[in-house]
Amino acid sequence: MARTEKTRYLIIGNSAGGIGAAEAIREVDKAGAITIISDEPYPAYSRPMISEYLVESCPIERMLYRPPDFYEKNSIGTLLDEKVVQVDFNEHTVKLESGRTLTWQKLLLATGGLPILPEIEGIGLKGVFTFNKLDDAKAIDEFLNQYTRKVRAMVIGGGLIGVSVTEALVKRGVEVNIVEMKERILNTILDEEASALEEKALTQAGVEIICGHTASTIDSYFPEKVNGVSLDDGRSLPCDMVVIAIGVQPRLELVSGSKIKTNRGILVGRNMETSMPDVYACGDVAEAYDFVCGENRLTPVWPNAYTGGRTAGLNMAGISTEYPGGTAINAMKYFGVNIVSAGEVALLDNSCEIVSERHGDIYKKVVLKKGQIAGLVFAGDIEKSGIVYNLMKDRVNVDSFKEALVADDFGLASLPEEIWRERLAIPPLELTSFVISVEEPEEAIVGE
Ligand SMILES: Cc1cc2nc3c(=O)[nH]c(=O)nc-3n(C[C@H](O)[C@H](O)[C@H](O)COP(=O)(O)OP(=O)(O)OC[C@H]3O[C@@H](n4cnc5c(N)ncnc54)[C@H](O)[C@@H]3O)c2cc1C
Repeated sequence: MARTEKTRYLIIGNSAGGIGAAEAIREVDKAGAITIISDEPYPAYSRPMISEYLVESCPIERMLYRPPDFYEKNSIGTLLDEKVVQVDFNEHTVKLESGRTLTWQKLLLATGGLPILPEIEGIGLKGVFTFNKLDDAKAIDEFLNQYTRKVRAMVIGGGLIGVSVTEALVKRGVEVNIVEMKERILNTILDEEASALEEKALTQAGVEIICGHTASTIDSYFPEKVNGVSLDDGRSLPCDMVVIAIGVQPRLELVSGSKIKTNRGILVGRNMETSMPDVYACGDVAEAYDFVCGENRLTPVWPNAYTGGRTAGLNMAGISTEYPGGTAINAMKYFGVNIVSAGEVALLDNSCEIVSERHGDIYKKVVLKKGQIAGLVFAGDIEKSGIVYNLMKDRVNVDSFKEALVADDFGLASLPEEIWRERLAIPPLELTSFVISVEEPEEAIVGE
């Protein structure tokens, strides 16, 4: 019979959230055994950098989120290329696909998201890809390497991932079409003006964008090979490959059928604990506190996953801590256009007030609700967007100086004196006083 291995802290998911939690645990508990499991075979890497891999075969060493000796130095056991297939939340055990069984005292679900696949004919053909992990970028790279002629690609979905893979493909010399169901690209994170600026840059780079339509079939005239995509209006567009980028959904398979409460993602409290004691969740799989709307919701971006992971880790190690909250924030530079957006930018109601400035391709907009910043979009000149974001994060009432936020010469000096003095006096996070001192680290579980 297979042996059951023991760990104090078990983290499923070796990415932003999982690493944030492991680091926080080690800061306060120097010895408790930490084990991280991932079904990907790599040490934690920057997921947003998979496009760099596609463009220039960026070596994994340059994409690593932490130095190669990170796990060993922190006595963190890893089980890479191992998938958790079942969790018994009452018995505190997990089963891996390989047959191993582990017991845990505290569990973190940092399982991220999975690409949504449309149920259309041809989805299983060779030449149809998603773009969510390093192996996806590797598979596309391998596919492109077979061709000596120009390749044509259809990207289905014009969101962040769709635009990210489009830029990488264009840099690889691929001719790209994007089909986007809504009326404009990047419609969930940008407003109309910023979307139009990005669309102009894409079009100038030779990308054809078809909005207001969906793909109804992926066509194949030769067995198993992509030859084109048919749209809902009957148009047929030839291509050699397809990238599906219509969205990502929280990876909930481990909690389905359990008592853990979910909505679109796993629901967590401000301490990142789920409805089940000793079980925590963070990152793209969790619905955590959003400081703009004051409710829990999905905010699937890297910094929120890391901060949520840190909060979970501290609580798992016995240090009662509240997640400060996150919101949707995106900083991008696709096709040379710098854009930062955060909070509510596109879905606005009558209670919102807008201040904005536009000079050529420089565009700045701040959305206000009851004197506080509810959202921002800065395009072209993003230098001061950080100050505005921090005012938003700290829920400062900006009513008396709102026009200054989008002015050319905006800076800390534009703020009332009591506010900028406060801004400069924020002390660094003090954690060292919480450290639990234990002599010898417990033995960590490692892959075989
Ligand atoms: C192409 C791309 C570009 C992006 N660009 C940006 C950007 O510019 N800025 C930004 O802030 N965010 C960006 N993001 C989003 C960002 O990468 C995510 O928000 C972040 O990675 C979420 O971290 P996470 O720890 O929650 O989960 P993930 O990074 O998704 O990691 C979860 C891990 O858990 C593993 N796992 C899941 N289930 C199991 C299981 N049962 N057993 C074992 N392992 C399991 C998964 O395989 C995965 O390795 C981008 C994402 C993509 C795909």
